[in-house]
Amino acid sequence: MNKDIATPIRTQQIMAKHGLTVKKSLGQNFLIDPNILRKIVGKANLTKQSAAIEIGPGIGALTEHLARDAGKVLAFEIDQRLLPVLADTLSPYDNVSIIHSDILKADVRAAIESELAGYDDIMVVANLPYYVTTPIIMKLLLEKLPIRGLVVMLQKEVAERITAKPGTKAYGSLSIAIQYYTEAEMALTVPKTVFMPQPNVDSAVIRMIKRTEPIVKVIDEDFFFTVTRGSFVQRRKTILNNLQSAMPNGKEKKELILKALKEAGIDPARRGETLSIQEFGLLSDKLHPYFK
Ligand code: SAM
Repeated sequence: MNKDIATPIRTQQIMAKHGLTVKKSLGQNFLIDPNILRKIVGKANLTKQSAAIEIGPGIGALTEHLARDAGKVLAFEIDQRLLPVLADTLSPYDNVSIIHSDILKADVRAAIESELAGYDDIMVVANLPYYVTTPIIMKLLLEKLPIRGLVVMLQKEVAERITAKPGTKAYGSLSIAIQYYTEAEMALTVPKTVFMPQPNVDSAVIRMIKRTEPIVKVIDEDFFFTVTRGSFVQRRKTILNNLQSAMPNGKEKKELILKALKEAGIDPARRGETLSIQEFGLLSDKLHPYFK
């Protein structure tokens, strides 16, 4: 087996060889611990019949672990300076394709069709750039791509919000948006010492496996997300007060909001953070005729 890229010495050597300095603005914190990499990749349950999609391969630390375990790796990297570095560090692997692109602008579905044809088990595995974690995860979920799920490293605080259960401080519209599409769980917490340079925040790895059936069936998904976001605008306010402020003409439609809450069996004095996703689904369907 080839020597790991993800050791402090090898990372320094690679950076020196290519005259590379990290760009903080692109969230570049490279992993320098092979044990953590093995644990992350282990959470994805890959086989040679699987393909992996990586966002931000950096200098290839995670990419090479994916290349060893999966049949094929497709990686999107925004920083042009890293392309020659990756061509060098990943030269022992013939099953990696790198696309030079901002993942938020990339046509991921077309890339899957052209690069990963024949793979029906596809996992996203990434150490995400922290300045843009939520938009990346939401893009990959909203585009309804043919993936089994995602195993991603991100800020611990965001990981806690994504995986939070009702009745907790971390539970909010982000928890609901992601748990609507996936079963999300905390997989690992990760010390700062495994990165170079070390980030300012604590990190964690979460695993999100796409649901085959929605957790709750709603009449109108966009409206459901409008209701959930609106219910958390001011966390200490009741669901009634939040909906009155957040829904169009909510103040004038107070009686209709009260009616919908009653029909859904939800006490108007409750706070949004106490409602389950199923309760939000029911509430959104009851509000729908009054606002659409
Ligand atoms: N995977 C490497 C590792 O674990 O050592 C690097 C991870 S580093 C936290 C994030 C990577 O994402 C960097 O390589 C950065 O250039 C890249 N990146 C940042 N924004 C991006 C975007 N919008 N699209 C694609 N890659 C991006």
